[in-house]
Amino acid sequence: MQPEPLDVIIVGGGSAGLSAALMLVRARRRVLVLDTGAPRNGVAAHMHGVLGRDGWSPLELLERGRDEVARYGGVVRGAEVASAEATDGDASGGPRFAVSLASGERHVARRLLVATGLRDELPELPGLAEQWGTGAVVCPFCDGWEVRDRRIGVLATGPRSLHQVQMLRQWSPSVTFFTNGAELDGDASAGMLARGIAVEPRVWASVAADEAGRLSGIRLVDNAVIALDAIFLGPRPVPNDALLTGLGATTAPAFGDADWVGVDPTGRTSVPGVWAAGNVVNPGASVPIAAGAGSLAGMTINSDLIEEEIRAALAG
Ligand SMILES: Cc1cc2nc3c(=O)[nH]c(=O)nc-3n(C[C@H](O)[C@H](O)[C@H](O)COP(=O)(O)OP(=O)(O)OC[C@H]3O[C@@H](n4cnc5c(N)ncnc54)[C@H](O)[C@@H]3O)c2cc1C
Repeated sequence: MQPEPLDVIIVGGGSAGLSAALMLVRARRRVLVLDTGAPRNGVAAHMHGVLGRDGWSPLELLERGRDEVARYGGVVRGAEVASAEATDGDASGGPRFAVSLASGERHVARRLLVATGLRDELPELPGLAEQWGTGAVVCPFCDGWEVRDRRIGVLATGPRSLHQVQMLRQWSPSVTFFTNGAELDGDASAGMLARGIAVEPRVWASVAADEAGRLSGIRLVDNAVIALDAIFLGPRPVPNDALLTGLGATTAPAFGDADWVGVDPTGRTSVPGVWAAGNVVNPGASVPIAAGAGSLAGMTINSDLIEEEIRAALAG
């Protein structure tokens, strides 16, 4: 293990956290990445729309990333961070942070980056969780191509579902919108009718699967089954931001009904010395966007450390 204080502790080793780590270790910073190893898209066998890595396994990408960080001396460990606190700064006034692991172990660093992602809260629908990441997915850009021209169902889970269902029409002529008994307003239903999208108003009962466990359709309250090849939905995104809010990072209502930690374009939070990147602050971040945000956060953290080093050098 490297001597402490470390330059940077990164909590979360997904696309955002590992991209930040790569920039920092290449800048000769002492970096510790702590990660529980459950990336959001770990449920999916393949990822798409990732330039140069289209169709790769998400877990393989992160394995490669961990190797790249380790090659430059960064340490990536499988561990859960239970809490983080600001501790007394050094003589030059730079901040210091201590993180405590679930095991009780503690580490101290000059800067902290939180890249812990989010949880997708699925609507109550028996059988849906079993299909999550395979038969039931969230992102048309990620999974639309694979089900082009097939039978696609879209669950009405919130106002953005109206956009999602219209979007999916560009991948297939066979799209059904499942309203679960909710009334559609006139404009929305006219737009669907005009583009040949079927509207299914009956209340949904469960997700149906074949003997091998593959999605076969949606069973409605009257036991009718609408056969489908894919379900798209918008789960409620819940940020894994307890470490950030525990440190006092400012939140504001954003992205639906939850409060989200606010960051500047470089990922800087309202707490001096604390950055956040990826899905923990932006539910719309795909793998390349999360990686880009992490990369920029890493570069900016490095600049912030240089400022502290200039102050320390001037102070003698
Ligand atoms: C079903 C599905 C399919 C998707 N397909 C695609 C696709 O094809 N292409 C694409 O670009 N995007 C896809 N995405 C989006 C993709 O999952 C996200 O863009 C990406 O995971 C965001 O990266 P991240 O680093 O912000 O978070 P994550 O990848 O979720 O990484 C966060 C990491 O932090 C760890 N962690 C959390 N809390 C702690 C803690 N307290 N201590 C230590 N570690 C912690 C987690 O275990 C995890 O490893 C998909 C998403 C879903 C749900």
